[in-house]
Amino acid sequence: MSIETIALTHTYMAGTSRAVVAVDEVSLRIGDRESVGIIGPTGSGKSTLVQHFNGLLRPTSGRVLVDGLDLWETDRDDPARGRRGRGRRSELRSIRQKVGLVFQFAEHQLFEETVFDDVAFGPRNLGLDESEVRERVAGALAAVGFDPEEAKALGQRSPFTLSGGQMRRVAVAGVLAMRPATLVLDEPTAGLDPRGRVGLLDALTRLHRETGLTLVVVSHNMEDLARLVDRVVVLDRGRVVEDDGVREVFSQTERLRALGLDVPPVVSLMQALAGRGAPVRTGLLDAAEAAEEISRWLASRADPRTEGR
Ligand code: ADP
Ligand code: MG
Repeated sequence: MSIETIALTHTYMAGTSRAVVAVDEVSLRIGDRESVGIIGPTGSGKSTLVQHFNGLLRPTSGRVLVDGLDLWETDRDDPARGRRGRGRRSELRSIRQKVGLVFQFAEHQLFEETVFDDVAFGPRNLGLDESEVRERVAGALAAVGFDPEEAKALGQRSPFTLSGGQMRRVAVAGVLAMRPATLVLDEPTAGLDPRGRVGLLDALTRLHRETGLTLVVVSHNMEDLARLVDRVVVLDRGRVVEDDGVREVFSQTERLRALGLDVPPVVSLMQALAGRGAPVRTGLLDAAEAAEEISRWLASRADPRTEGR
């Protein structure tokens, strides 16, 4: 599924003296099965932007198209009114459902008595019968990395007895149970301990790889993005200032630092080595890759035949 924004602008408190242009003429296309990271300093409009992707926020101006369908074109603009207008409304509703949005600190929105009921909430709202609901809950809990035994035991517990990482995964499962084609996550690992973080990242990586789910991930954590996405969009004051492959964006260390963003430690390390004349490749994102590159360099140094090459 594709999501496209055309000159999308969102102004909070428009028309008042406190008006804030949070998203400023953003034109962006996210294609089917892509994995895209969105970074930018605090207040640059990341959360506001992604809340337009499923129609949660309404643009002040500009358009949002999901699979080519304008989320906000009103029936008034639609020459086909009446029955066809209603048909269009339900079409829009199902399109919006195809874009699942996981909010920042999504676990704050868990509210049912059991984990099962929480994940089942969306599917039950769709009016699915209980056997289908059970299937969806089991599938969604598996998708976020709980094995079947674990999921069964967890299902009957209160969400509030779980660890932070488990709660976050349950919240993601609640969105996945709606079977979205695109999953949008706002700061998915914020506040998680390293184990919770790795558990969630692994689950998301696997989902993207195995099911082709389109991923849009807002994150401050460059290491997370290096693992999860192929492309990175950089926002600054509501505008897109960079949109490129993850390696290309993350190798522009000066640019990122100027925006107050952290550069992945592996990138800094390789650039520091290269800056001191070491013949190593920069632009590596992964610690294992970097370790291999450094070993290769050290091995070549130890061999007198290639010394000084
Ligand atoms: P980010 O997610 O990149 O931190 P946000 O989209 O949350 O950025 O915010 C962008 C701008 O909009 C900021 O200046 C923020 O203060 C403002 N803003 C966000 N939400 C609201 C709101 N509900 N009402 C008024 N201003 C808001
Ligand atoms: Mg935000």
